[in-house]
Amino acid sequence: MARQLFTARLANKYYLSERTQCFHLTFVVDELGSFDFIPGQFVSTTAEDKSGKMQTRAYSIASAPRGNQFDLCVNRVESGFFSNLVCDMEVGDTVSFHGPHGLFLLRQPLTDSIFIATGTGVAPMLGFAQHLFPEDGRNFSEGREFWMVYGTRWETEVYYQDYFQSLAAKHTNFHYVATLSRASEDWKGNRGYVQEYVRRIVEERVGRNHAAPTPTTSETPGFDIHAYICGLNEMVSGNRDQLLALGWEKKQVVFERYD
Ligand SMILES: Cc1cc2nc3c(=O)[nH]c(=O)nc-3n(C[C@H](O)[C@H](O)[C@H](O)COP(=O)(O)OP(=O)(O)OC[C@H]3O[C@@H](n4cnc5c(N)ncnc54)[C@H](O)[C@@H]3O)c2cc1C
Repeated sequence: MARQLFTARLANKYYLSERTQCFHLTFVVDELGSFDFIPGQFVSTTAEDKSGKMQTRAYSIASAPRGNQFDLCVNRVESGFFSNLVCDMEVGDTVSFHGPHGLFLLRQPLTDSIFIATGTGVAPMLGFAQHLFPEDGRNFSEGREFWMVYGTRWETEVYYQDYFQSLAAKHTNFHYVATLSRASEDWKGNRGYVQEYVRRIVEERVGRNHAAPTPTTSETPGFDIHAYICGLNEMVSGNRDQLLALGWEKKQVVFERYD
């Protein structure tokens, strides 16, 4: 069955980093009164390439539902077809898409959660965060702790840092850790890879809830927690393997691979 195609019009676009050619883009779906999706899902954009072949690529929605709009966070991939098409769009240009799709969703009932991302893998985490801590003052996160662990190379690439820092300042149950693998000497923040910081969070939390007997499983009081991992395969696998080695069950680790 043919999928229903929609048209997304670019309404706003700005650089998140010139160095990595990464953009935040806001689209409007004019034909819909509201574009409904669940935070964490993606859209599939479609376009013909030069040879007339239809190309489709997935892009995680970098926002919570907001009327007939949605945001994307896309970086150019060298010689890549679709990332360049999207990154070259000017305000007013349109692109076809179908969706929403995907099962990278917050598990219910909500548990403590570690969001782990590198690069544009931050996109669905924005959807989660905007949903959990909406700006209208409602709060869907009560009674739970959330950690956002973000890894990137240089300080110019810490996408959405101001947003996540301000969430952490406003909400005592939201914790933000950014770490750089190639920081300059001036960088005063964390260094190294996300895995190291995820391990610390898990070990400290288990220590804090040390009532948990061994083995600790998702059924053990105090151990109800999920990790949501998004980014390139190598990072996703590294973090997933570490959590499984720490005694987590597969169903506690939710992930989205970009490659
Ligand atoms: C569920 C899902 C969600 C995604 N969400 C996002 C998102 O929010 N933002 C985003 O920027 N991308 C996202 N991607 C990746 C995106 O779909 C494309 O793969 C990416 O934009 C490259 O497409 P392209 O047509 O430019 O490159 P292609 O023409 O497909 O590939 C060109 C070359 O680049 C390599 N390559 C492919 N993808 C990547 C990549 N991601 N990084 C580095 N090299 C790559 C290929 O192996 C190939 O050699 C997502 C992927 C999936 C599966």
